[in-house]
Amino acid sequence: MPTTRAAPVGLLGVDVGGTKVALRAEATGRPAYERTFRWPAGADPAADLAALDAEVVALRATWGPVHAVGIAMPATTDATGTVLTWPGRPSWTGLDLAGACRRIFPDSRTAYADDGDLAALAEARHAGHDDVVYLGVGTGVGGGVVLDGRLVPGRVSAEVGHMVVDLDGTRCDCGRTGCLQSVASGPATLRRAGLARGGEVSFDDLRAGLHDGRPWAVEAVHASCAALAAAVVSLGELLAPAVAIVGGGFADGLPGFVPLVGRTARLAARPGRPAPAVRAAALGGLSSLHGAVQLARDLVTTSERIAVEEI
Ligand SMILES: [Zn+2]
Repeated sequence: MPTTRAAPVGLLGVDVGGTKVALRAEATGRPAYERTFRWPAGADPAADLAALDAEVVALRATWGPVHAVGIAMPATTDATGTVLTWPGRPSWTGLDLAGACRRIFPDSRTAYADDGDLAALAEARHAGHDDVVYLGVGTGVGGGVVLDGRLVPGRVSAEVGHMVVDLDGTRCDCGRTGCLQSVASGPATLRRAGLARGGEVSFDDLRAGLHDGRPWAVEAVHASCAALAAAVVSLGELLAPAVAIVGGGFADGLPGFVPLVGRTARLAARPGRPAPAVRAAALGGLSSLHGAVQLARDLVTTSERIAVEEI
């Protein structure tokens, strides 16, 4: 007669990117499994999904069973789980993502969410705060909002990068003018520095110019930090988070960037309503992946351990 024993819950986080995918599996009492693979050449969604499927089969064979899966997705999907748009991998437009997840993870509870939202969730839990806004500054500006320990608004992603900070500003990738990321993203900052300097400016040039106090570098960075501070202050007025966490590769790579956002936000506060304290992100490029694992963990709410049948 089969006996029942308790086994650790296997949690899998998947961080889907435009060129590569990161996997992290966790279970109590077992070493974590980490693996990153690149999408196959050719941008064929069927080949992409076959590659992901093969990775999951290998993970199950070498690491163990997976009970819950959280997926960090940069793509915009509709209510049925079909990809509406994904600039990072345009060939996925029209893909039935929900159906693909059911095929690849037939026996696991599976959910996906915006990668910026999940980065916010991971940073909030790492910082030990239930009320957090997170701004990730890189190629764009991503991020999310966590209130009472949960992602909000939940029914859609929190698009902090498309908050309008200057209606007369420069054009955003989305087509509108004045979005936060049209001012404060890495490429936007480098463009502004290049215009002021009169030539192309690389990230290393900007970093060196900032270190040496060159006006073209200092002013470009200050404008980005001011836009981020405006967003932090406005989010503070609406949501009163305990902290605003600022990260992303561009912010992490420039000494003094995050403190400058904090100082500027503090100065922009009004009497009786201090700006949220600004803190540097802690998880770096792994925030979305860790958030995906958190999403998987949140799917398994009944207990830390579940029963499996043993023959
Ligand atoms: Zn925009």
